[in-house]
Amino acid sequence: MKRSDYAGVSALTRQARDEAIDSGHFYLVGGGIASLAAAAFLIRDADVPGCRITILEALGDAGGSLDGAGTPRDGYVVRGGRMLESKYLCTYDLFDSIPTLDGRSSVTKQIFDWNTTIRTSSKARLVRDGKREDAPAYGLAESHLLTLGRLSFEPEALLGDSRISDHFDADFFDTNFWIMWCTTFAFQPWHSAAEFRRYLLRFAHMTPGFNQLHGIMRTVYNQYDSMVRPLRKWLDEHGVVFRNHTRVVDLRYDESGELNRVAAIVCEHDNRRDEIPLGEHDKVIVTLGSMTAGSSLGGTDRPAACAGNDSNDSSGAWALWKTIAAGRTEFGHPSVFADHVDESRWLSFTATLHDPTLFSLIRDLTGNVPGEGGLITFPQSNWLASIVLPHQPHFIGQPKDVQVLWGYGLFVDRPGNFIAKPMVECTGREIMTELLRHLKIEAQAQRILDDAICIPCVMPFITSQFLRRKRGDRPQVVPEGWANLAFVGQFCELPNDVVFTVEYSIRSAQTAVYTLLGLNRAAPAVYKGQHDPRVVYGAASELRHH
Ligand code: FAD
Repeated sequence: MKRSDYAGVSALTRQARDEAIDSGHFYLVGGGIASLAAAAFLIRDADVPGCRITILEALGDAGGSLDGAGTPRDGYVVRGGRMLESKYLCTYDLFDSIPTLDGRSSVTKQIFDWNTTIRTSSKARLVRDGKREDAPAYGLAESHLLTLGRLSFEPEALLGDSRISDHFDADFFDTNFWIMWCTTFAFQPWHSAAEFRRYLLRFAHMTPGFNQLHGIMRTVYNQYDSMVRPLRKWLDEHGVVFRNHTRVVDLRYDESGELNRVAAIVCEHDNRRDEIPLGEHDKVIVTLGSMTAGSSLGGTDRPAACAGNDSNDSSGAWALWKTIAAGRTEFGHPSVFADHVDESRWLSFTATLHDPTLFSLIRDLTGNVPGEGGLITFPQSNWLASIVLPHQPHFIGQPKDVQVLWGYGLFVDRPGNFIAKPMVECTGREIMTELLRHLKIEAQAQRILDDAICIPCVMPFITSQFLRRKRGDRPQVVPEGWANLAFVGQFCELPNDVVFTVEYSIRSAQTAVYTLLGLNRAAPAVYKGQHDPRVVYGAASELRHH
């Protein structure tokens, strides 16, 4: 046990922490990357034996929103394609300790080596009229630049719960800058200005070359195969207990002491309700909410079912948060994020291709080989559709003659330009048809469609973490007044870092473990390029001169 990590902690607190580590059980609610990371930090940095860590997951597998599954015959599905960058400091800290599946290096080293071999450099970030635009001009007016500058300097608190659209005129949302920004990060004009500001600052160092996606890093395969699987293997080897199909529906409390405690976890398993009582030294780490809660898959000939609320959320993510937060302001305000599906929903699709024609045509059109270009957006698309051709194979075990591409649309309630239906009502084939028309692929379209499996996925809460929020809507990682409870994931408050990232969930896990156990350690500080004059100059001149 690393007792030295307790330097600076009072003797009494130290004793409580030692007892937690020596005999306490740790229950982690949710099996997404936040919980997996928390388990790993408990083992690596606090020497908690894996067998005293239990992960309670409602669904049948770990990984949560960091998913990737399927077969060449039935089609592959990645609900998302995740972009990383060099300042994912907590992510790389964690994965530095996790070996790749073949044991040849750490996952972090593999990611950095891979991105040295294939650097993202898009030659077709935008495609209009079937033609690529290499390094599109941002098209910002002086007034837009001034507002971007003001937002960067204005303290977050002053922005309150304002929308991005409260700060810009309508022209801003027609600029190439906004089209590239909103499709890279999935922002909408009605989303939180405070979160927009955080993104401006957090990714300031990536502004030069933003129109070619410079600095975006990828994993070798999809992130389930490249990140979740190695981490899961490491946790299994350390004896962590995974209880799948176990939905946590409530917590019981003991409020008789100086600090409140969670006294029991209420779960449902096989339609049976069960309580896990917590001992004096036990602790609970709860992943709040989920951007992929209630998501539903369609098929090549079937649209995805489209829920307007959390009614088909089998994970119970929102239900749990709403239940435990009722009457407890220190647990945040879940309705701010959960009850505006019309402002948080969009659709992604994964196409599995058994014929190389589409990949060759897109390679010729864009001048990028798969894995090099990143997002290709069609600004004229009513759905504001984008696609990505990842490096192939994208899945471990994917046959050589199969290719997988991912795409999404931001305006899923509007009829397409060619298919007269809202994107959410479309089958996979209709989505592919619309895509081929934007690419101006006609002669080969039937051949491509005949061999394609395309699976749409509606995600009602996909941008819920971007909805406008006020101070206090997201709870602290360790809520004040509680002895054995922490919150992790996308909906707890971490100053300066940005949501809709793997990094945010991992940072929350690292913060939760160190704070709950009173370790004298801290997660790596959030990178602040805005304090480096070279970064500020680079960002300003990029936006002004392109
Ligand atoms: P989740 O992954 O949502 O995990 C929550 C888990 O807890 C789920 O498995 C759920 O079933 C379970 N659960 C919830 N409530 C309960 C309960 N009551 N009882 C039991 N189990 C429960 N990140 C990037 O860094 N870059 C990107 O480019 C990027 N793009 C993305 C694109 C898409 C389409 C998606 C979906 C995600 C993207 N992300 C990206 C975000 C990243 O994947 C997520 O931030 C991260 O995976 C969230 O992890 P989490 O563990 O916090 O939550």
